[in-house]
Parts: sequence; C-alpha cells; structure tokens
Amino acid sequence: MRIGQGFDAHAFQDGGRLVLGGVTIDHPQSLAAHSDGDVVLHALCDALLGAAGLRDIGQHFPDTDARYKGISSRELLRQVVQLLQERQLRIGNVDITIVAQAPRLAAHIPAMMANIAADCRIDLGRSNVKATTTEQLGFTGRGEGIAVYAVALLQEAGD
Ligand SMILES: [Zn+2]
Repeated sequence: MRIGQGFDAHAFQDGGRLVLGGVTIDHPQSLAAHSDGDVVLHALCDALLGAAGLRDIGQHFPDTDARYKGISSRELLRQVVQLLQERQLRIGNVDITIVAQAPRLAAHIPAMMANIAADCRIDLGRSNVKATTTEQLGFTGRGEGIAVYAVALLQEAGD
C-alpha cells in the first residue's frame, strides 16, 4: 500500500463561479486560479500523485499552459486517475478536509463525495469529504480564501 497527502489553498475574488469538489456553490465570491479553482480536487490530485510517487499537479498541468486555462478540475482528476491506472495502482480510499469560514458546505458534501467517487472509480464509501472552520483564525477564518487537506491510499496490483 502507498499513502499520499495533498494540500492546496486559493484566495477568494469577487464574482465568478465557486466550484468545490466539482459542485457549483451559490456564493458572491469565487477562488482565483488558472483553472476553475477547485481547491478540493487540486489537493486530492496532489494526494493521489504523491502516493504514486508522481510529484504534483503543477508538474503535470502547468498553469503556464494555455490548455489548462479555465479547465474543469474534474478533468484533471480523471487524467490523474488514468495515470494511476496505467501504473496498476488502485485507489483504496480518499479523505478530504475543507477549511472554510464561509460558505456553509454541509449541504454540498454528498454531491462532492459522489463526484469524487465517480472520477476516482471507487465506491461512495471510499470517498470522504468533511468541512471545518478555524473559528475565525488565520486567512481561512478571515474569509480570505479556502484551504484543503487530502490523503489518499493506493493499492498496488497484487496487494
Ligand atoms: Zn489549486
């Protein structure tokens, strides 16, 4: 078995579309990024790539590359999952923590878990997402942005 962890953070900007875990969330702000700014899926991609020993998302999808401008991060995640599959690596489970003071995310979490399970080709029970605040502390607590931590377990063929 192999374990990986990922972390990502993006700053809020006024307007635009807030996408977290592939779910569009009604909110007056979005996350500034070259792609759709889906900080949840970016952290997850890094956890998966890390577990596979394949460095990080920036190595595979550089933000200087026009091909990735505005791209859905679900497409990036599916490409990462494909890389794992080519290496006979199977995803055991993923667990994600979103750190955000706002918006309230509880109602959106089941849809995020379903998107992630579908893109990772795993059972829903192996795709976990949770959200927390930092009690107003730090940049997430001040509502300046969102941070996400992810871990992923991979199983090598034959395990
Ligand atoms: Zn990112």
